[in-house]
Amino acid sequence: MTLNIILLGPPGAGKGTQASRLEDEHGMIQLSTGDMLRAAVKAGTPTGKQAKAVMDAGELVSDEIVSGLIGERLDELGPDVSVIFDGYPRTGAQAESLDEILAARGRKLDHVIELLVQEDALVDRITGRFSCAQCGEGYHDRYKQPKVAGTCDVCGSHEFKRRPDDNEETVRTRMAEYRAKTAPILPIYEARGIVTHVDGMADIDVVNDAIETILSAATTG
Ligand code: ADP
Ligand code: ADP
Ligand code: ZN
Repeated sequence: MTLNIILLGPPGAGKGTQASRLEDEHGMIQLSTGDMLRAAVKAGTPTGKQAKAVMDAGELVSDEIVSGLIGERLDELGPDVSVIFDGYPRTGAQAESLDEILAARGRKLDHVIELLVQEDALVDRITGRFSCAQCGEGYHDRYKQPKVAGTCDVCGSHEFKRRPDDNEETVRTRMAEYRAKTAPILPIYEARGIVTHVDGMADIDVVNDAIETILSAATTG
């Protein structure tokens, strides 16, 4: 059975961390518009050039651009791959586009998992975030350190990087964008009865267990 899941939550809620666990454990594919945009910026594509300043400011890139990226990526993956949407949709217009994008490909949204977190914990999570420059594995200065200091657990690389937008000022703008534009799309999904709330303040393994329970109910029920 092919699953289509949204992980919803403000910046730093743990979407990327949990999506990566689901990739490892279930062979699902994470579709992160943030990762796609950062790849476009790095490659210097026209999309990347347009997006860079907006991302650095913590504002939202246009709906057309991100929905276009999602459609392209789904076409590359083909019909049989289960996917996790991470950081998309972020506006009402994107939520509408996602329905159309999925329907046009014979897919349908199975579940929306909302990670509930306290806002005052998010700045701490985001300013301590870093990742492996080689394989992209995510870490945190205090909450998820590499097992051997300075060495990536996954690929052994010694090079790490931090995102330019992971500073306190930009995070505040990103949280405000989430509150104003993204949180209001939840009722659309609530009305369909497909939303489950998970305590995102719990330890990473505990959050993962809660998501696993939801997914096994979705696949058996
Ligand atoms: P998002 O993709 O929602 O922006 P991330 O998954 O990148 O969030 O997590 C933000 C930071 O917080 C990362 O450094 C990650 O290691 C850390 N983190 C993720 N989940 C938890 C958790 N449940 N408890 C503590 N820290 C976490
Ligand atoms: P986080 O992991 O902290 O939630 P993302 O990596 O998802 O952040 O996004 C980083 C930035 O990329 C956002 O602040 C925004 O500028 C842009 N972006 C990512 N996804 C979208 C989207 N669906 N719509 C508009 N802008 C997006
Ligand atoms: Zn690595």
